Amino acid sequence: MLNPDTLLLVQICVTLLTTALLVASACYTDSPPEQRWWAAGNVAASAGMVMCNMESLPALLGSILGYGVIAFGLGLVLRGLRVYCSSTLSWTNIAIITGIALIISAYYTLVAPSLRARLCFSGFYFGLLNWFCAAAILRRRGWRVSGIAAGGFLLLGLALFLRGMHMLTQSGPADAASSLIIGLSALVVPLAQMCIAFGLILMVMWRYAERLRRLSTLDALTGALNRAGLEMQGKRTGLRAQRGGRSLAVIMIDVDYFKVINDTYGHPVGDEVLRHLARLLRLELRPHDLLARFGGEEFVLVLDGVDHAQALSVAERLRARIEYEMVELDKLSVRYTASMGVACSDQHDYDLIRLISAGDAAMYQAKRAGRNRVMAG
Ligand code: GH3
Ligand code: MG
Ligand code: MG
Repeated sequence: MLNPDTLLLVQICVTLLTTALLVASACYTDSPPEQRWWAAGNVAASAGMVMCNMESLPALLGSILGYGVIAFGLGLVLRGLRVYCSSTLSWTNIAIITGIALIISAYYTLVAPSLRARLCFSGFYFGLLNWFCAAAILRRRGWRVSGIAAGGFLLLGLALFLRGMHMLTQSGPADAASSLIIGLSALVVPLAQMCIAFGLILMVMWRYAERLRRLSTLDALTGALNRAGLEMQGKRTGLRAQRGGRSLAVIMIDVDYFKVINDTYGHPVGDEVLRHLARLLRLELRPHDLLARFGGEEFVLVLDGVDHAQALSVAERLRARIEYEMVELDKLSVRYTASMGVACSDQHDYDLIRLISAGDAAMYQAKRAGRNRVMAG
């Protein structure tokens, strides 16, 4: 049942299906550029494979150009992977990748004709290019995101490399061992192609999901968490602190006379002040502390493992830093101050909403007491 012709047919069908899958996903109007490179690369590699396998084509087209087109396609896929990892592969490098395939296949077709040498070269060369593809994603992304695609490239590279090796070592008519290698690689190649196609689409989906998560949980102006993000992550931080028997502190921060800043210098300057404050707070925080924009010019800090006295001293340090700093704009320097309210699970419980309202009440006390100060809830 698994004769070579059946396996070749399966391989061609899988190649066409995976190519169609990548082309269909790249046709989505908002598709990222890497997806289009992957689709174009797969179309080219499939066309090259068809050219190589069509016996009716003249040698120049089938054996030489076919290998060049496959190499060009793999170059495009590699370019897409580099773009995905915030880098690129120059057209010169793609031309070199294509040129090597053209020159060597031309040599073994026109100068020293040998089908075995051509198959051997294609196994090693295309195997190597697939390993380059795996290396491109693994260097930048972990296994978690791109493991399936990277595994597919590694597997495909291995199957092609073994085929090349087999061509190099086999002498005389095919024996049982050699037909096992060819049969196995004919099974592994389509499997690897499917892993690559689904893996690449998963990588793009992961990126979309990440973008959606950022859009729905982060504040666009300052990059701090928004209310939804605070609710989600604050709950988790609260539970973690409670389970670990640590204190949880909340610091509410409100810029003083912010309306005056807007009215005096304009809203863009007000926006810059908000960005400046978010940057400053982020610099002062530990990686696992939460910073959220609670409202217009109000920010919240959630600190795990910080007791009441420590929270007061953190808030005082932040207040002094804000008072000291200056927002530098083109021809303008703006100073601002902030009032803060502190609440801690030592006095209240771990309920974040309650901690926030206690911190808010303390912050309003600070406002009433003259602003630019810290009050405890
Ligand atoms: P107080 O010292 O009592 O806190 O006075 P305030 O002026 O800071 O507070 P108030 O609530 O009167 O004014 C807040 C202003 O913040 C009003 C609103 O137009 C402005 N605001 C809210 N969101 C933004 C924003 O995203 N950008 C800018 N530039 N201004 C904002
Ligand atoms: Mg204010
Ligand atoms: Mg306010």
